[in-house]
Amino acid sequence: MPIELPPGTASYSDRTPPPQKRQLLLLLGFFLGFIAVIFLSLGSLVNLLVDFIPPSVEQQLGRLTVPSFERMSRPSPAQDTLNQLLDRLEVHLPEDQRTGRDYQVLYIPDNTVNAIAIPGDRVILYQGLLNQMESENELMMVMGHELGHFANRDHLRQLGRGLLLQLLIASVLGDPGSLQAIALSGVNTVANAQFSQQQEYEADEFGLSLLRANYGHVAGSTDFFERLSKLPGTVEIPFLGTHPVSSDRVNRLKQEAKMLGMKEGVRSPLPAVLKGKG
Ligand SMILES: [Zn+2]
Repeated sequence: MPIELPPGTASYSDRTPPPQKRQLLLLLGFFLGFIAVIFLSLGSLVNLLVDFIPPSVEQQLGRLTVPSFERMSRPSPAQDTLNQLLDRLEVHLPEDQRTGRDYQVLYIPDNTVNAIAIPGDRVILYQGLLNQMESENELMMVMGHELGHFANRDHLRQLGRGLLLQLLIASVLGDPGSLQAIALSGVNTVANAQFSQQQEYEADEFGLSLLRANYGHVAGSTDFFERLSKLPGTVEIPFLGTHPVSSDRVNRLKQEAKMLGMKEGVRSPLPAVLKGKG
């Protein structure tokens, strides 16, 4: 028999949780929201703080990434020439990008078409990439682009929030033990970092300004990228994996050069020692 409630008596429907339960749910919601906000703002905060990680900390990371490339590289006239070219760009770097830095090229006599900037201030250049170069200016643009990744600390940003936070704490505390742990878990990430489109644009702009400072013009700056962007998708070029080249990127670069009013000039020939035998 149904129980009859006297008129005016409130009843709780089955679907409405009692007030205590509702408050608990609300509290839980707030708590989860709070955690999400902290996590998101931590990401942008860490991103801002990346610029304050001293180059010495980056070089400590390099101690774990550099040796494996050093083993493949060969001291050679080609490597010396590449370092001389890099030096010419370096003198145009802003003062704060030069202090405490020791940029060097590691030349690898291998047909891989790639150039990588790795922590420890090393630019890895493969003969395969040099074989694709038709002028010194194109090569200088690629090297300037790599210096742009260093300047923007792109590798450190690529480590991910967790590792980056550890790196920040370690650099404040000066704890070499945890630096080693970070480098070990992030070693592949930092050596083969894939950058975002925005990071590529910014590195391009950086390279462009170095090119202008060196030659007084930006002739040849888009040649190599243009050639790569026209290759069929089936061709495997490691350079495209680490530095994706789209026609959009080429257009942007061209526009940038035009906007800055940089006049076209004469391209310099690629030094003979860098030309492949094939
Ligand atoms: Zn790049």
